[in-house]
Amino acid sequence: MKNGIHPEYKQTTISCACGTVIETGSTKENLKIEVCSSCHPFYTGVKSRMSDKGGRVERFKKKYDK
Ligand SMILES: [Zn+2]
Repeated sequence: MKNGIHPEYKQTTISCACGTVIETGSTKENLKIEVCSSCHPFYTGVKSRMSDKGGRVERFKKKYDK
């Protein structure tokens, strides 16, 4: 066994852009993410995701709705 190869694994928190804070173990501290299991489209459905990016979606619709 060699020592020093694996980074230290410690308790930390992951802060999501939606406000959710997840406590987990990681080699990094105080992580920040944009989506988590609470707000990821896979869990919340596509609708809420589209409302988040409403402006972009509206522009997309206008572009192709001719
Ligand atoms: Zn989130």
